[in-house]
Amino acid sequence: MKTIGLLGGMSWKSTLWYYQALNEGIKKKLGGLHSAKIILHSVDFAVIEELQMKGDWTGAAKILAQAAIGVEKAGADFLLICTNTMHLVAPEIQREITIPLLHIADATAKNLIAQGIKKVGLLGTAFTMEQDFYKGRLENNHGLKVIIPNKEDRDIVHQVIYDELCLGQIKDNSKQQYLRIIQQLADQGAKGVILGCTEIGLLVKQEDTKVKLFDTTFIHADSAVEEALI
Ligand code: GLU
Repeated sequence: MKTIGLLGGMSWKSTLWYYQALNEGIKKKLGGLHSAKIILHSVDFAVIEELQMKGDWTGAAKILAQAAIGVEKAGADFLLICTNTMHLVAPEIQREITIPLLHIADATAKNLIAQGIKKVGLLGTAFTMEQDFYKGRLENNHGLKVIIPNKEDRDIVHQVIYDELCLGQIKDNSKQQYLRIIQQLADQGAKGVILGCTEIGLLVKQEDTKVKLFDTTFIHADSAVEEALI
């Protein structure tokens, strides 16, 4: 079994899910007392968030690349960045290590394509919804048609992530807003909606809506389980 490297803590709320899903996934495949081989470097998210807000992506990339080098040295065979947003600096991280990075958008696209979905809605931070490293990758590398909420709704989705979900706060009003936005994307023709932020699953669950949801945290973790067992 390969050793899985994780860059976590962004936020730690969702890193918990990665840890659990990876171990459950390996246990499901191998049975008995088997569990995942994991090396985790968990950062202080306040530092990363401050750099994000300043637009200092180079600074954030340096911290994460340094962490990735450590994870590789500790024996990881491949790396996961446990957040969608920080894939913005995935190329800078990959440049500093020799082990492969399992990109969250690629894992998600594969899952969508396997289910025959071509047009999909995307929720996440403003960076994830608006920039090419994510939406563009889904469209240009995987041929998906990606639709995002209007500016006002993107602001709501973004604020709820940083002001509530990353702090572990779950508010019913925010949940209703998210469900309204998800329904609107479906009304515009999306055959599913990507939960493109690793904390959204705290707020919205599949049983809350008829629209098919694609939770990137669990898709990413599942693809890591597969990779670990190749
Ligand atoms: N975990 C979130 C994501 O998947 C947001 C936190 C971050 O900015 O990294 O994008």
